[in-house]
Amino acid sequence: MDDARTPSEKANPGSDSIVSPPAPTTSAGGDSVDGPLPLRPGHELPVAGPSSYLHPNRTSRTMVETTPSPLDKEQLQGLRGIREFLKVRTSYDVLPLSFRLVVLDNDLLIKKSLNILIQNGIVSAPLWDSRNSAFAGLLTSTDYINVIQYYCQFPEEIDQVDKFRLSSLREIERRIGVVPLETVSVHPMKPLYEACRRMLKTRARRIPLVDTDDETGRETVVSVITQYRILKFIAVNNEQHTMLLKKPVRELGLGTYSKMATATMNSSVLDVIDLMVKYNISAVPIVDQDYKLLNVFEAVDVIPCIKGGAYDELSSTVGGALSRRAEDFGGIYICGEDDRLDSIFDTIRKSRVHRLIVVDDDSRLKGIISLSDILKYVLLFGEEEDVIRQQSSTLI
Ligand code: AMP
Repeated sequence: MDDARTPSEKANPGSDSIVSPPAPTTSAGGDSVDGPLPLRPGHELPVAGPSSYLHPNRTSRTMVETTPSPLDKEQLQGLRGIREFLKVRTSYDVLPLSFRLVVLDNDLLIKKSLNILIQNGIVSAPLWDSRNSAFAGLLTSTDYINVIQYYCQFPEEIDQVDKFRLSSLREIERRIGVVPLETVSVHPMKPLYEACRRMLKTRARRIPLVDTDDETGRETVVSVITQYRILKFIAVNNEQHTMLLKKPVRELGLGTYSKMATATMNSSVLDVIDLMVKYNISAVPIVDQDYKLLNVFEAVDVIPCIKGGAYDELSSTVGGALSRRAEDFGGIYICGEDDRLDSIFDTIRKSRVHRLIVVDDDSRLKGIISLSDILKYVLLFGEEEDVIRQQSSTLI
């Protein structure tokens, strides 16, 4: 990886040490995939015995009394400021003054939808059921990944795959045994905080904003908000709060650091897609034999791979697929474990960050911080304690 930083720049918290290296084109040998991932903290299945619902919980909550440091207090103050901001802003506020929305008719051939996305430089689009004049869900790279899985499971039906329409996506999900995602949408005038909570609950990375037309009473798709847009909105409008987030990612445990799903430049695109499906992740870091970071394969990188129905190219290498990226690809962003959340927000403010890859001074992969990790931390950290604090202050 071509990393322009000096080690001291990387280790200097708060400095502008998060950089976007150019995408390398060299290939490396090595294993294609890592071992199985454990359940991530916060993603464990809740286990409760039936009796736990029947008996009132008489034991009082034991709170560990620790005196928060000034840094802790400042951090919480910053988080509370951002949460208050999200409660008084709506999803509508996140939208730029002027924007373009591409809505695709459900009757469109999947093959054609790919070209439309590529030509318009977008990676998702709301779907419209014109027979019933109703919103019909959101087309994302996950849908194309499902089509690829269908092709792999039923290779003899390749001719059919080309004839599938967007309305067949639910049927494709059923045939490959994928549990259909709940079609979530939010009203644009609801507090942004609600949209964020909804995103975290459903693990949706983007949510369509759906309103009702006053005259016809019919649904209208206004736009789509993404984790990226929300974090950008926070970063741009909350500098007074984000500057209080001075704790380093190491201390916050922000992101995932164990059992990373990784691949090499020689892995096949299909192997990487398999990893993304298996672990429900949107990106796989590409490393060399020394575990040095070379690049990142993102779910959206699948789209150019299957352009024009070239499904057989999926067995080609990740290196080849990455070379097909659009010219305006924003690059990948890296940080060190000593970088602070305030400097991450600075980078989000200035650049097109979709995730940060955590590396050490030798560019070795340490972890990955996705936008959902940041959103989760900003919305939920210490929130339970805040609710208890508010309840007890209203009781006094
Ligand atoms: P994302 O799919 O980017 O929203 O990430 C969902 C969760 O998976 C987050 O907690 C990430 O930290 C984690 N994650 C993302 N990519 C990987 C990966 N390649 N290996 C392990 N965990 C990951």
